[in-house]
Amino acid sequence: MRVSESLNEEAERLDAADPLAHVRKRFVLPAGQIYMESTCLGPLTSSVSAAVREAVDVQWGRRLIDGWWEDGWWEAPARAGDKIGRLLGAAPGQVVVSDSTTVQLFNALVAASRLRPGRKVILSVTTQFPTARYITDSAARMLDLTVRRVPPAEIERYLRADGEAIGVLLHEPVDFRTGELYDLAGLTRAAHAAGCVTVWDLCHAAGIVPVDLDANDVDMAVGCTYKYLCGGPGSPAFIYVGGRHQNVFDQPLPGWNGHEYPFGMRDTYQGAPSIARARIGTPPIISMIALEAALDAYDAVDMRQVRQRSLSLTGFFMTCAEELLTGTAASVATPREPQRRAGHVAVCHGDAPKIVQELRDNGVAADHRPPDLMRFGLHPLYTTHREVYAAVCTLRDLVV
Ligand SMILES: *Cc1c(COP(=O)(O)O)cnc(C)c1O
Repeated sequence: MRVSESLNEEAERLDAADPLAHVRKRFVLPAGQIYMESTCLGPLTSSVSAAVREAVDVQWGRRLIDGWWEDGWWEAPARAGDKIGRLLGAAPGQVVVSDSTTVQLFNALVAASRLRPGRKVILSVTTQFPTARYITDSAARMLDLTVRRVPPAEIERYLRADGEAIGVLLHEPVDFRTGELYDLAGLTRAAHAAGCVTVWDLCHAAGIVPVDLDANDVDMAVGCTYKYLCGGPGSPAFIYVGGRHQNVFDQPLPGWNGHEYPFGMRDTYQGAPSIARARIGTPPIISMIALEAALDAYDAVDMRQVRQRSLSLTGFFMTCAEELLTGTAASVATPREPQRRAGHVAVCHGDAPKIVQELRDNGVAADHRPPDLMRFGLHPLYTTHREVYAAVCTLRDLVV
């Protein structure tokens, strides 16, 4: 066993060799705290304050209604969508920012089900995120469908056995509890082989793992922007609709913003023949402007680099945990293999809620998911290996 001194040296070496080290200064990080809660709310980025001040004082304050055109408010959902699209491997014109993940999950799930009339089953997973679970159950009741939830490892078997009954596969590439990463490409292929439409909830993947939506032929995807994308509290969600569906999908919340002629004030809905169809009502412009500015943190950053650094951080966390937590009551719940981990590491401990509070009192902000998990969100754009080492040392002192 190495002494912890060498972990410290390893952290310094990894940080010194990091090609993304210059990006950390794009964030406004809390003094005296190691912030590992991007799994819930990413930190402020340095371009946001000025953008929001300008939006309020100049755009809204002076130009008022003209802001919709002079300041580009009307097109902001598409502009922000394209910026996010680059991080998701989506060509421009396929992502739009609108409403909340919960609302867009409903939209995507119902629209996807309507693409497969006659198929009576929505396939999802037993580990499904709560809001997605509630929305799925309600959508199924409305559409007279059945929901089948299976362990993630059994999806392919179900698709092979019962694929003709399944209209939609709704899944999350990252388990929000354990941080396990699933094979989005392979599962999308398997779903398509069975004739199903895929809807992916990317909340814990966006901005952290490459999902290559176009290359993987994903049908629809949604996700929030306030976690790793750092859009701010309550920043609006995004939705991706693959180009081939944009002119045919039947939007269950047909709002005037998504009309082909939104200012025509027509009596009947005619969806725009583009991603604009996924827009609903008037968007929260101040939040939208904050999000657009926040996304500048990803300027000239390549998702392959992000992934490499993310794996380095999570891998180093596990190395530290092996050396420092072995023999304690804490154990890592995230898979060790690189291809099975995403952006956070989950640590299991019977007293997780209490330890998370103590971590916070000792300068490490992590979060707790019932019953017994602590999540450490390691953001590749600002978390350092030294912080990882310090966080695991702090944790060790609390669990021995
Ligand atoms: C965070 C998260 C959500 C959040 O939904 P909101 O409508 O933004 O509250 C949805 N799904 C998953 C998988 C999440 O991790």
